[in-house]
Amino acid sequence: MALAEDITKQAWERAGGQCECRQRTHSHFYMPCGKQLTWEMRGKTERGGWDTHHTNVSDGNMLANYQILCWDCHNKFS
Ligand SMILES: [Zn+2]
Ligand SMILES: [Zn+2]
Repeated sequence: MALAEDITKQAWERAGGQCECRQRTHSHFYMPCGKQLTWEMRGKTERGGWDTHHTNVSDGNMLANYQILCWDCHNKFS
C-alpha cells in the first residue's frame, strides 16, 4: 500500500528518528526499542533499515495510526 509521504515525515519527526516499537514480545521487552535510525535507510530491508507500520488499518490514514519501526521490529510484526 502506498503511504502518504507527509504522514511518513510527520511520524518520523514525532519519533525523533528512533524506533517507536513498544512490543513486549520483542527482545527489548518492557523498554521502547528506541533504535536510532537515519532517514536515508527508509524502506531498506537490511540492518539499520526502517519503515512505517500501520497499526490500525480500519481507522484510516491518521498519523496516530503509524509507528516508525526499525527493520528488526517491523519483521516481527509481519
Ligand atoms: Zn525497533
Ligand atoms: Zn520491537
